[in-house]
Amino acid sequence: MEVDHLGIAVHDLASALARWERTLGSAASPPEEVPSQRVRVAFLEVGETHLEFLEPTDPASPIGRFLESRGEGLHHVAFLVPSVDRKLAEVSAEGGRLIDSLSRPGARGRRVGFVHPSAFGGVLVEFVERGQ
Ligand code: ZN
Repeated sequence: MEVDHLGIAVHDLASALARWERTLGSAASPPEEVPSQRVRVAFLEVGETHLEFLEPTDPASPIGRFLESRGEGLHHVAFLVPSVDRKLAEVSAEGGRLIDSLSRPGARGRRVGFVHPSAFGGVLVEFVERGQ
């Protein structure tokens, strides 16, 4: 299975991107708003994976609450799967607690779904459906 991206929560997308782009020597994708998660995101390609930077558009959103309680930092690990719905059902059948019982629209026009950190030793896991 491939890691699609690592999600990093930031207060300010523009300043985070400027710093990371300079350091990694590559340009981020244009920022995109994801209404279902109340965030603005941008992706930075790093080798065969990406970093996803997430800035809340609402302080009461999950990313807003994460920043409030934990500050900026690594937020989730996302894996590429053929079917998010099928993978969520597998995790649930094995007793893993889900955040999303069904996939929903995510960034880049992909279907995504999140599993509760309790299912994977405190790591928030996202599944991303492979694009066509
Ligand atoms: Zn993500």
